[in-house]
Amino acid sequence: MSRVYNFSAGPAVLPEEVLKEAAAEMLDYEGTGMSVMEMSHRSKTFEKIIKEAEQDLRDLMGIPDNYKVLFLQGGAHLQFAMVPMNFMKNGVADYIVTGSWAKKAWKEASKYGKANCIASSEDKNFNYIPDCTDLPVDEEADYVYICQNNTIYGTQFHTLPNTKGKTLVADVSSCFLSEPIDVEKYGMIYGGVQKNIGPAGVVIAIIREDLITEDVYPGTPTMLQYKTHADAGSLYNTPPAYGIYICGKVFKWLKKVGGLEEIKKRNEKKASLLYDFLDKSDLFTPTAEKTSRSYMNVDFVTGDKELDAEFVKKAEAAGLSGLKGHRSVGGMRASIYNAMSVEGVEALVKFMKEFEESHRK
Ligand SMILES: *Cc1c(COP(=O)(O)O)cnc(C)c1O
Repeated sequence: MSRVYNFSAGPAVLPEEVLKEAAAEMLDYEGTGMSVMEMSHRSKTFEKIIKEAEQDLRDLMGIPDNYKVLFLQGGAHLQFAMVPMNFMKNGVADYIVTGSWAKKAWKEASKYGKANCIASSEDKNFNYIPDCTDLPVDEEADYVYICQNNTIYGTQFHTLPNTKGKTLVADVSSCFLSEPIDVEKYGMIYGGVQKNIGPAGVVIAIIREDLITEDVYPGTPTMLQYKTHADAGSLYNTPPAYGIYICGKVFKWLKKVGGLEEIKKRNEKKASLLYDFLDKSDLFTPTAEKTSRSYMNVDFVTGDKELDAEFVKKAEAAGLSGLKGHRSVGGMRASIYNAMSVEGVEALVKFMKEFEESHRK
């Protein structure tokens, strides 16, 4: 068996320890004689798994008691609809459009009310985060929406927008648990877990209780109401049980390595290794503006499509997998999520140096 360094944007690398533990428990979870995959979601054993997962997440993020933690399905995409269906009480919301995901969320919201785009970075192919200190926030807006880390473009909000008192809703799919955050600054935080936490199929939503009401868009299906899932402790229907179990293991792994302060240090170290090299390189250019750079997704190009393709191919052959950039940016993207080791990033930088040497004119 040999594992590659996996730089895929998502589904993405998971901690090896977690995968090994899951493998060891595959046939017989803690003496139950069955896999978590085969177990009733109403069993005492699963109840313990989901409760512990929630508690560990609360501990890691310091989630206050007046916030609910929901384990949902449907990917981040379903939240693009659930957010407006549940929160547009006045029928108005403001969107900051910093990439394809935010744009899709904005378009989806316009089905349910007046969705304003109050700032955008589309003029430069989303390679920066706009100044959000004094935006034209609608007085009627039920919330202001951001995508905190733009997975495709490699940009990230390093300061939250000034929402002028309005509720902030954030898609944190690709920066979930990458650093400590102040949950109280948000009304809702959500993300698909397949980028930084676990297997695809689970979405975690952290929502301030007062926002969870029965006053939803007319006709909203029962399954798409946050209240349904909040009242049932995420067990209204069969949840993505195995996925939640793996997320729980990742939370325990994060606690063991020292929590979010420590993981932030590691993530900063990995990102600076890569950006420092890119800033000095004559061959590779980072695409995101310096002050907007993501700690999770690092985009870069050579300026020559054929050379980009050659790099990706040779890197793959050298055990550095998943470096092809998203088609809307081109070039390369190294996703360096929590589970990517410093050694993995060092190996990538070494490979890039050698590639650059061998292509000197
Ligand atoms: C991947 C991603 C999405 C889409 O996630 P799905 O689970 O495929 O719906 C949305 N937002 C962000 C920030 C992402 O990285």
